[in-house]
Amino acid sequence: MKKIYFDYAATAPTDPRVIEAMTPYFFEKFGNASSPHSIGRDAQKVLEESRETLARFIGAKAEEIIFNSGATEANNHVIFSLARRLKDKGNHIVVSAIEHHSVLAPIEHLAKEGFKITYLKVLGDGLVDPQEIKKAITDKTILIAVMHASNEIGTIQPIAEIGKIAKENNILFLTDTVQTVGHIPVNVGELGADFISLSAHKFYGPKGIGALYIRKGTKIDPYLVGGDQEKNQRAGTQNVAGAVGLAKAIELCQSQMNDEMSFQTKLRDRLLIEIPQRIGGVKINGHLTKRLPNNAHFSFEKVDGESLLLALDMNGICSSMGSACTAGAMAPSHVLKAIGLSDELALGSLRITIGRWTTDEQIDYLLTKLPETVKTLRI
Ligand code: PMP
Repeated sequence: MKKIYFDYAATAPTDPRVIEAMTPYFFEKFGNASSPHSIGRDAQKVLEESRETLARFIGAKAEEIIFNSGATEANNHVIFSLARRLKDKGNHIVVSAIEHHSVLAPIEHLAKEGFKITYLKVLGDGLVDPQEIKKAITDKTILIAVMHASNEIGTIQPIAEIGKIAKENNILFLTDTVQTVGHIPVNVGELGADFISLSAHKFYGPKGIGALYIRKGTKIDPYLVGGDQEKNQRAGTQNVAGAVGLAKAIELCQSQMNDEMSFQTKLRDRLLIEIPQRIGGVKINGHLTKRLPNNAHFSFEKVDGESLLLALDMNGICSSMGSACTAGAMAPSHVLKAIGLSDELALGSLRITIGRWTTDEQIDYLLTKLPETVKTLRI
């Protein structure tokens, strides 16, 4: 059976043009970017070109980018490193309750070590209220962390406003841009963030490569230590082929962003409009307009979400209940709880995320199969 992929927020297929750009860096151009000979110098050169490409597309300077394994590492780096570095200044962190686990888990570790954490409540549509941040910060606050857009419900946060508050109060600000880079415009100047984290595999690049943006002048210590790669901020032989792939992927996203945004918004809105027309007892989660162009998220009354996923999978439809990282754990998603859903409704959820290769016909198929499946499963 032909598979239909509706889980682009978990990961996207690598664009063949990205693979083509990367291939020479596994063969004749395989060098270690730290080697002084010509093969090494060539690797160093293309690594720096890739850094410049990424920097250009997010409005940063090349020297503000460090390549790493992806956003999990970037988020851990910022949180653990700042906590250690700034512990004499303060021990308070303000974080939204709906962050990805790669932000929440390191913060929970710090809480066990005595840090005070304010978890920002969100509104029913998943929006953080910037006024709540103003109220939460104290003279001990060392970091504010609010993601750009939710990987689960797609809500896009008022990051520029939050960045302004952070700056006015002289507090460092991390925004996780994993779901937005390559999909909607991301400019570090406009966002006002001191750190952003990203992973190439979410925008049609390879897995296992990503980056951390560190605003010039911001002091932070390395997380991985060893060699002096990445200006001493991230030890380890650089993933040159990965960086080339990341740069090619972002270049492609940028060149077709307007078209992809409008095409995906059109397909997404078909889902947001037609699913509630075809199925009763359904709730749309997330903000209706301040929303990623590729995300539609629903909760169905009296349906077990895991059974729904399995039944759809048997019909060739690959989708998700929420974040792939929590799949397998039967606890309701912390994001859905934070927007006020009951456990029962949260456990009856379906996230449909679309992408570069989604077609109108695939949406038609889903719109036929989903109502039948929900009807059979309803208790
Ligand atoms: N943040 C968000 C919002 C994500 O969606 C993900 C991936 N699910 C991550 C961080 C972690 O990215 P990676 O697994 O590539 O490190």
